[in-house]
Amino acid sequence: MKTTGYAALNAETPLAPYSFDRRELRSDDVAIEILYCGVCHSDLHQTRSDWPGTIYPCVPGHEIVGRVIEVGGDVTRHKVGDAVAVGCLVDSCGHCDQCLAHEEQMCREGVTLTYNGRDRITGDVTYGGYSKHVVVREEFVLSIPEGLDLARAAPLLCAGITTYSPLRTWHVGPGSRVGVIGLGGLGHMAVKLAAGLGADVTVISRSDAKTADALALGADRVLVSTDAEAMAAAANAFDLIIDTVPVRHDLRPYMPLLDIDATLVIVGQLGLVDEISTLPLLMGRRRISGSPVGGIAETQEMLNFCAKKNILPECEMIAIQEINGAFERMEKADVRYRFVIDMATLEGPAAA
Ligand SMILES: [Zn+2]
Ligand SMILES: [Zn+2]
Repeated sequence: MKTTGYAALNAETPLAPYSFDRRELRSDDVAIEILYCGVCHSDLHQTRSDWPGTIYPCVPGHEIVGRVIEVGGDVTRHKVGDAVAVGCLVDSCGHCDQCLAHEEQMCREGVTLTYNGRDRITGDVTYGGYSKHVVVREEFVLSIPEGLDLARAAPLLCAGITTYSPLRTWHVGPGSRVGVIGLGGLGHMAVKLAAGLGADVTVISRSDAKTADALALGADRVLVSTDAEAMAAAANAFDLIIDTVPVRHDLRPYMPLLDIDATLVIVGQLGLVDEISTLPLLMGRRRISGSPVGGIAETQEMLNFCAKKNILPECEMIAIQEINGAFERMEKADVRYRFVIDMATLEGPAAA
């Protein structure tokens, strides 16, 4: 299938229009016309080779919403016309302990990523959602529940599930005391989802500049991390802190905020953090953890939860031609809170 999209041809030049083929449908495949694709920080890092292993050309995008246009002969879960979504994963081995436990993101044989991955059968490079079409194995295609706004749902597929998964792992519910560090694409979803689960939510921020926004998103209060008095008063005040800061930073100020047996979970930064002291860990049996996206079943659960509670990301819609400017603004954290590409702005493939 001929399609078209935007790709990084190398680490230095801006993303540019790119035509390519999607694979012919296998019996368990679903072909999707992409309507919207969210713009994730990983897209920027991967296309610019900030992380190792980028294969060029690279078509990024793993927050995909679209409609089914064709299905393989054995497909039972989806039919032509269905509103569907694809997140960060498009395949896994299907038989290891993690896959059997619906944790495909941790597949022992390595999960197949939506872009910059390798197809398990042909070994071809996978291309993501900055494109008109995508072909995905049916088990990795999510259903968009009735009532969820398609134009705003896309960021749920990475930012949403990345913050929902730790909330579920650490059993957040009514009465849980949750802190959220950083109020960007991930952080604003952490606030909405934690509030939706009934938690008491505090945004932890370097200044009070984002107080009005935090409260509007559903937070109960803002704790200013540069206010020593307020930080001291918040000692032991949290059961879970979700740290969404996407760069190297100092965790030490946050450790005393955790209650005994509580956890600080990192979902933003991939790489080094500043030196830490084990003292607060030992003395309070506190934990520092990390968490990736969730599995397919948990992602579907999150979509259903968002539809039921009417939880949607705050989106800024852009045309695909604006993507390079959007990357620059995202680098400066100048977006409230997620860019979403309206794929109708992408010209279809030229007629054969
Ligand atoms: Zn992402
Ligand atoms: Zn597996």
